[in-house]
Order: sequence, then C-alpha cells, then structure tokens
Amino acid sequence: MQSPAAPPKPVRSPRQRALATVAALAEVYPAACALDHRNPLELLVATILSAQTTDQRVNLTTPRLFSRLRSAADYAAVDPAELEELIHATGFFHNKARSLIGMGRVLCERFGGDVPDTMEGLTQLPGVGRKTANVILGVAFDKPGFPVDTHVTRLSNRLGLVTTSDPVKIEAQVCAMVPPREWTGLSLRLILHGRQVCQARLPRCEACVLESFCPSSRLRPLRRRRSAAPAARGPRPSPRARPR
Ligand code: SF4
Repeated sequence: MQSPAAPPKPVRSPRQRALATVAALAEVYPAACALDHRNPLELLVATILSAQTTDQRVNLTTPRLFSRLRSAADYAAVDPAELEELIHATGFFHNKARSLIGMGRVLCERFGGDVPDTMEGLTQLPGVGRKTANVILGVAFDKPGFPVDTHVTRLSNRLGLVTTSDPVKIEAQVCAMVPPREWTGLSLRLILHGRQVCQARLPRCEACVLESFCPSSRLRPLRRRRSAAPAARGPRPSPRARPR
C-alpha cells in the first residue's frame, strides 16, 4: 500500500517564501530569458531594446536587425537614421539608437569589439545599468546576478522578502536567501510575473501561483473571513417562535 503524501511544508519566513517562489516560478516560466539571441552581443542589444516594451516585440524586431548588424564595429559605424528605422517598432528609438551606436563605439575602443564579462566593464557601456549588466552576466556568461528593476522591487516587497525600495539592499538581501545558481533566473521570472500577473495597479492574485504564501494577497482577508466565520458565528440560535 502506498504511504500517504507528506503534507506541504509551511512557508513562513522570508527565506522560505523566497525558495518557494524560486520553485513555483520556475514551473510557470521555464525559460527565464525570453529574448532571442545567439551570442552576448545580440543579448546585449536585445536587452537595451527591451526597455519600455515587450520581449515579444523585441523578438519581432531583432531578426532583421541582427542580419544587418553583426559586430560591435557594425553598430559603431551604422547610419543613425537606418538604425532608427530598424528598431522603430520597439519605441523610444532615438534614445535606443544613440545607446546602441555608443555601445558599439565603446566596445571597439575599450574592449576590442567583445562584450566584457564583468559588471565594471558592462556598466561603462551607454544604455547599460546594473540591471542590464546583471542580465548579461547571468544569461550570456553564466555569472549569477540579480537584476533589480521596478517589478523585482514591487514583488520582493509584496512577497515579504524585503521591506525596502533600495535596489542595492534588495539585491543583497534576496541573494542571501537563495543559492547563487538561482539568482538570475529568479530575477527574470519575477519580472515576467510582475508584467503578467502581479501588476502594479491591480495584482491578479486569483491567478497567481504564489498566492498561498504571499502576505500581500488580496484574497487573504477573504480567506480569513471564511475560515473564521463558523467559529465567530457560534452555534445556530434556535428558531424563535413567531409572534402570534
Ligand atoms: S498573490 Fe497577489 S500580491 Fe502576491 S505575488 Fe501574487 S499577484 Fe502579487
């Protein structure tokens, strides 16, 4: 006879919630990085283009771009008007074109045309902050990082992993709770979950796989009321005799 399945472990502490989040989101979003790329340069370009737009739109834009521009030198030398036309669909194309051309120039001048594999090197590139650099390090170079953006900030707080909006503190505190091999994937999946389910204005808690242990779930008061209801109600009063 099969022994009954062990009951699920309670999820109470921030560390337990962080580890439960890692497991649950990995099932929902098996591919943490949804940006199509074949090498570190393509990932860098796609990540710069992904600001203020969807990964799907970037993936529709990059095949034509990547077939036209293949090296850092290509980006350094491209005509800005042509580049703007190539990336137009991703929005903010003036700024993004300026970043990509600057990126190509800095890569050629300081890094021999290669994408550097250090935080210090990556953050020297125009359009590349700590968040983008962490994505490149984790996905392209297998060097774990924990990019913190507005989604990661919001979800880390709602899930009760941290109580701060300081990206450096969030990075340090969450990284102390989960193994390094999970850092990049967790961050990228929190971003996907923040876009698709735990949206800023109206989180869709009823569709959220983290709901059972999320201290901010909008369903919690409802659940509490339901579980408290029988006790609060007490024994049913006997029906009163109707007044004649
Ligand atoms: S339960 Fe609601 S608030 Fe908590 S992570 Fe999910 S969507 Fe966000």
